[in-house]
Amino acid sequence: MAVATDVDDLDDLDRTDVAVVGGGPAGLSAALQLARYGRRVLVFDTGRGRSTHHQTNRNYLGFPDGIATTDLRDLGRRQLAHYPHVSFASHCVTGVLGDARRGFTVQAQGHVWWARTVVLATGVLDHFPHFPDWTTYVGRSMFWCIACDGYENRGRRILVVGHTDAAAGEAMQLHSLTERVRLLTNSRRDDISPRYRRRLAAAGVPIVHDRIKAAEGTDGRLSAIVTRRGERIPLDSLFSIQGATPETAVARGLGVRLNAQGYVEVDMEQCTSVPGVYAAGDITAPHSHQVSAAVQEGAQAASAANYFLYPPELKAD
Ligand SMILES: Cc1cc2nc3c(=O)[nH]c(=O)nc-3n(C[C@H](O)[C@H](O)[C@H](O)COP(=O)(O)OP(=O)(O)OC[C@H]3O[C@@H](n4cnc5c(N)ncnc54)[C@H](O)[C@@H]3O)c2cc1C
Repeated sequence: MAVATDVDDLDDLDRTDVAVVGGGPAGLSAALQLARYGRRVLVFDTGRGRSTHHQTNRNYLGFPDGIATTDLRDLGRRQLAHYPHVSFASHCVTGVLGDARRGFTVQAQGHVWWARTVVLATGVLDHFPHFPDWTTYVGRSMFWCIACDGYENRGRRILVVGHTDAAAGEAMQLHSLTERVRLLTNSRRDDISPRYRRRLAAAGVPIVHDRIKAAEGTDGRLSAIVTRRGERIPLDSLFSIQGATPETAVARGLGVRLNAQGYVEVDMEQCTSVPGVYAAGDITAPHSHQVSAAVQEGAQAASAANYFLYPPELKAD
């Protein structure tokens, strides 16, 4: 397909009010609110984010038996199907250029679209430990978040994986739900401070200094981790605290300001440092990585983007 480089060459189908980059809870929520303001929305999504694993969300209000995160995405798409002015493209956005005055060109799959405003909702990439078939365990017995999955693991054997104070802190928190917690550094490094080391020792949480070689388990349920030195650690669940990288390539290309931790800096209305560009969901902060926060931020970003699209004479300021 030829790449349209001149915005004037684009036909009406390639022009939209809002380009939403990312179709997880944040992007879908933004698209829904914008659809209801009557805006034309184009959602780009590669379907690879945090909300595409096997987990069931049990802390999202309104689903008494929990809801699989992939089902939540499907429901969001079904809800959006009621709005003919919303469309989806399963493309990886490789770049967005432009500004509030000229609008923004969105590049993906060798093609270019034009949007008056942009919502970034690209999420983060988790640093889960990699061993054969590791993806089958994510969300079933491999987790990272105590608020999401701690409660179901009360009394179980938990292996926390990580070599920092954050990992030690998670182990201490999980210890309030089960006494059967161990910590595996899974790194050549051990950056746990003496203070956290003392706390772990006082709670009786052993630290294993070794790296993961393989896992044992069936149907996504881990039963043991085998280390490189040959230790076999039986477990029911693994909590990975090895960090995550915010997916900011598109934001950086636009010149959006990032904070010290590398996340997109936003104000209380989800406005980024680039006028006409908004951000929502896990990409905006190192904490509060929850579906509820992503949905709220997506809705707020939509309100701000909608207001940006008002003609000047209708604006209050
Ligand atoms: C194992 C696990 C369990 C969890 N459990 C819970 C829970 O119980 N409760 C809870 O509230 N939260 C839970 N979470 C966290 C929750 O899933 C995230 O907070 C939420 O998915 C964030 O939504 P998001 O839209 O910001 O990002 P994501 O869901 O990660 O969606 C981002 C989307 O953007 C797309 N994308 C990225 N870059 C591009 C690009 N360049 N072009 C096009 N598309 C792109 C990705 O493919 C992805 O679909 C869990 C997460 C994990 C991994």
